[in-house]
Amino acid sequence: MTGTDEQLELVDPSTGQAFQAVDLVSEAGADEAILRAHKAFDSWSRVAPGDRARLLRRFADEVDADLEHLARLEVRNAGHTIGNARWEAGNVRDVLNYYSAAPERLFGRQIPVAGGVNLTFREPLGVVGIIVPWNFPMPIAAWGLAPALAAGNTVVLKPAEATPLTALRLGELARRAGLPDDVFTVLPGRGPVVGGRFVHNPLVRKVVFTGSTRVGKHLLAGCADQIKPVTLELGGKSANIIFADADLEKAAEAAPSSVFDNAGQDCCARSRILVQKSVFDRFVGLLEPAVHGFRVEDPSSESAQMGPLITAAHHARVSSFLNDDVPVAIRGHAPSGPGYWFAPTVLGPVSPRDKVAVEEIFGPVAVLLPFNDEDDAIAIANDSDYGLSGSVWTRDVGRALRVSRRIQAGALSVNSNSSVRYSTPFGGFKESGLGRELGPDALDAFTEEKNVFIADD
Ligand code: NAD
Repeated sequence: MTGTDEQLELVDPSTGQAFQAVDLVSEAGADEAILRAHKAFDSWSRVAPGDRARLLRRFADEVDADLEHLARLEVRNAGHTIGNARWEAGNVRDVLNYYSAAPERLFGRQIPVAGGVNLTFREPLGVVGIIVPWNFPMPIAAWGLAPALAAGNTVVLKPAEATPLTALRLGELARRAGLPDDVFTVLPGRGPVVGGRFVHNPLVRKVVFTGSTRVGKHLLAGCADQIKPVTLELGGKSANIIFADADLEKAAEAAPSSVFDNAGQDCCARSRILVQKSVFDRFVGLLEPAVHGFRVEDPSSESAQMGPLITAAHHARVSSFLNDDVPVAIRGHAPSGPGYWFAPTVLGPVSPRDKVAVEEIFGPVAVLLPFNDEDDAIAIANDSDYGLSGSVWTRDVGRALRVSRRIQAGALSVNSNSSVRYSTPFGGFKESGLGRELGPDALDAFTEEKNVFIADD
């Protein structure tokens, strides 16, 4: 039994009612779990590649069989719409299946040298500590744990304080699938307590952190002390750039979900809508009915497109951005009454350096920024400390390529707002992060390259 020192009440964000308490792991409990994961590493790293692959596929099958249950847990614990939550549980299954192919394809190289044979190996690191935020508890857990386990590491994972339930369930499903004890351990707890041990306990050989840029910087500095490798997936303030020649109807119809999905609590949210001046009024006219039609409802309802914000404190923070000085262009609808509801809101036109255009609000609030031409759009889009994702809407292929190449962001889409596919790399430029997750190269972040020379005389 892992040591605990505190209980935390979980609150259903759509009602504001506490529904369950969880035990939080203490510092000593985290160190015990890390030690057990360290002891489990040697045998797990030597499991035959085909057997490790089979175990990951079985884990994926267990997730698939539990999909509806996992989705319902997330609706209750995080206020996600049932449609989104099913996609998220399905994403965990798909990511496990994708990386189940990796153990048998963890290739090294034979490099020609004089006097012998030179081989390279990709060696697992040891214990990997994964720190997950509350906005996408399931997918973000999977993006770390699946490639880490596939490469032969053991994993300790800390969910966010407010949203531990699906991670705890994934831990149970891993055991049910037959993963050996202590290969994957979920440790609900406070950030500075359990997450702090991932940073400072030398038995943890790698930290994967997704969360705010503020905490990410703090962790990076902490890991420097042990030269501990870190992957950081941090905040964003992404641009949705709409040129005059775009299919404006399509761009306007797609814009609300690109920023209001998951109540705007999405690092990839296209929260800055840049519109070419010549079509600004027409675009806003098309956007208005799309925002008014965005369905903010009880997240367990099949028709819900958006649920509540995560906590009362976060609701207060998002609300603080709206004051008499900011122009409200469009306001959608949200339920009144208990729960942390916030109506989808579009502000504008605003200036690129206005607070609402610079800071990550992390709620269902977008800003409208008019621009003159291609250079102006690129300058505004890049005038940000962040650089995670973004969209370019145009019918001109040359412009689509030129602009995509010049935007300083890691995940761009043209005539689409989709950022994440498990088979393609994901991560940010500038203060949006360090390193990449997902895609064919994810195992590079969970292995060290070793060179072995064998003399032939
Ligand atoms: P947060 O930084 O407050 O917390 C994230 C996680 O870090 C939590 O599990 C928390 O307990 C832990 N933590 C907090 N302080 C810690 C410390 N001192 N040491 C170790 N761990 C600590 O972020 P949040 O509010 O939970 O999440 C929202 C943020 O996450 C937003 O900025 C969002 O953009 C970002 N995010 C980024 C991505 C991405 O892929 N780039 C994805 C999702 C969310």
